[in-house]
Amino acid sequence: MKSITTFSLQYAHRFYGFKGEAQYLHGHTGIMTIEVEDCINKGVNMVFPCNEIKKTAWSVLKNFDHALILRSDDPLLPAVLDVYEKQGIKNGSPQNTMMGCAFETELAQAYPNCRLVVTKETMTVEGMIKITYELLKDKLNISKITFTSGDNAASEIFEVTGTMDRCPLCGIALDEHGKCPKCGYEKNK
Ligand SMILES: [Zn+2]
Ligand SMILES: [Zn+2]
Repeated sequence: MKSITTFSLQYAHRFYGFKGEAQYLHGHTGIMTIEVEDCINKGVNMVFPCNEIKKTAWSVLKNFDHALILRSDDPLLPAVLDVYEKQGIKNGSPQNTMMGCAFETELAQAYPNCRLVVTKETMTVEGMIKITYELLKDKLNISKITFTSGDNAASEIFEVTGTMDRCPLCGIALDEHGKCPKCGYEKNK
């Protein structure tokens, strides 16, 4: 069975080098759906609480919301950073409060202080799915990610191997000691 959560991300980007209107800087509201697959946790009669999937995903994906996403070789990148630097907002500002945790993977690096994500590949809907899976695959049993942005949509199915040990009282994943980080339940007691 699957637990499915959906949320939206508002971002600006462009397709650098692309022969079409998307080579100009523009914005989107992207809709992401993450499907988590596992057996039914009998204690709570669900696979995984959807608000917890959202919380886990949002802790990193927040970096893409109200952010600028540029490819690492895009000449706009040094230009934008130069403007932010001169304006004194490159390393943060008191108004920049809803920041995600900085991350760096093979595919993307987040700079929450200036609401920027630098990607290795063009940030298409397909690119976003690859980045998201890379960021979350060790935290959630993701079986499918769908991302829709404007007229573009893509989805990818991932093989789920194994099951996660979840709390029978609140449903979230137990830590490595078999303890629930939320309600304190201990498996071995
Ligand atoms: Zn676009
Ligand atoms: Zn619990």
